[in-house]
Amino acid sequence: MSKITGSKTMKYDYAVIGACKAGLTAVETLRERAPEASILLINGEDRLPYKRTQLTKKLASGFSPDDFSLKDEGWYSDNSIELWNNTRVLEIDKEKHELICSDGRTAVWGKLLIATGAIPFQVDIPGREFVKHLRSAADTEILRAELLSCRRVAVIGQGVEGVEIAEQCRKMGLEVHLTGRDSRLMQRWLNQRLSGKLLSLFKSEGVHCSFSRDVSNITKEGDHYRVHSPGEVLEVDIVLASTGIRGNPALAEALGIYGKKGIACDTSLQTRIQDIYAAGDAVEVPSGWPRGLWHWAEYQGRTAGMNMSGESQKIENIPTRLKCEPFGKFYFSMALPDVNEDDKSTVFFDDKRGYLKIFEREGRSVAALMEGLSKDDSKILEKGIHQGMPAESLASSFI
Ligand SMILES: Cc1cc2nc3c(=O)[nH]c(=O)nc-3n(C[C@H](O)[C@H](O)[C@H](O)COP(=O)(O)OP(=O)(O)OC[C@H]3O[C@@H](n4cnc5c(N)ncnc54)[C@H](O)[C@@H]3O)c2cc1C
Repeated sequence: MSKITGSKTMKYDYAVIGACKAGLTAVETLRERAPEASILLINGEDRLPYKRTQLTKKLASGFSPDDFSLKDEGWYSDNSIELWNNTRVLEIDKEKHELICSDGRTAVWGKLLIATGAIPFQVDIPGREFVKHLRSAADTEILRAELLSCRRVAVIGQGVEGVEIAEQCRKMGLEVHLTGRDSRLMQRWLNQRLSGKLLSLFKSEGVHCSFSRDVSNITKEGDHYRVHSPGEVLEVDIVLASTGIRGNPALAEALGIYGKKGIACDTSLQTRIQDIYAAGDAVEVPSGWPRGLWHWAEYQGRTAGMNMSGESQKIENIPTRLKCEPFGKFYFSMALPDVNEDDKSTVFFDDKRGYLKIFEREGRSVAALMEGLSKDDSKILEKGIHQGMPAESLASSFI
């Protein structure tokens, strides 16, 4: 298959922009299906592709550049994947099938995948320029150094990332204020009961939590900041936020394929430009579908890779799943699409061991909420839901 080197522009059967879960999974899938194809993977970051989900879990301890690499360096050469590290694509020429990179390199592609991830959604308020976000390992290293010289931090956003950032800041010994619009912690994932338990845990660990607060503006006062919301002013040294994401618009807007919240594609992950696909957090999905999840990026990367190699797979709404372990307490939430609190459910225990609730539809487990057990237990729950086990039998593994 074609790969012309030696001249400035190289030609590849497949080029993938963005080397995290979606891009790398697509590359693996392409390599399995097209053993002879030439594949270029362009990694915009300054280290080997890594597990992004670890950033909010290792903020307090810190990490080395290769601590959570997805593959070691040898994997790329062993699999004949051309990896361009620390290289950003600046422009895509859809007519010439060419891309132009920040270091001056250019490449011609047969089929292209844009897996450039997300950018943090910034709340449109005065003072938003003072807010810091955490998206890459490099951001996290800079932020960590700043946090080490701070005393007080405000974290805006009570979703899973906000919760994890607040926990890590507290572990660093900071005075932490977790605030935002939501009326409870991790409300997308947890029911009232578990949000309440998580709140008690956070309070007992000394995190200050305030809810239903729309931050109206942020002001800089000398070397500190004031975070204003109705009925509350927080005075802090640093303001962090995790208030949602948008698909990365950078390359897609110029190509005219950006929708409202991400790259527009069909369910084969093909954009309206022939031979250009998109996958992962970059993509705009139908309302109500998951986004911003590691396993979802993996699923899309695999589907895009299959379709680029000539198959015709379609993405569907898949079960959502979240695991997190703030202050050492394990939380797990999983649901098939369309499950809600109105489905038949049983709380199997809510005591010192923790909490287990399983939802059932037509005799099959369709969702579970769990607190306090282990990661291995969550795997049993996940398998049971995939297999559609009756709730009673699934719960019997834990009672
Ligand atoms: C701090 C944090 C914690 C998270 N925790 C969890 C969790 O606990 N559980 C969970 O399920 N999900 C979690 N997520 C979400 C999960 O990490 C993402 O859904 C997943 O990483 C998406 O993968 P992706 O490949 O689509 O995009 P990304 O991981 O965003 O990767 C996109 C890559 O493309 C690169 N790129 C962008 N533009 C260019 C360009 N022009 N040229 C070259 N490269 C470019 C970026 O630098 C980046 O490396 C977390 C996310 C963050 C930020």
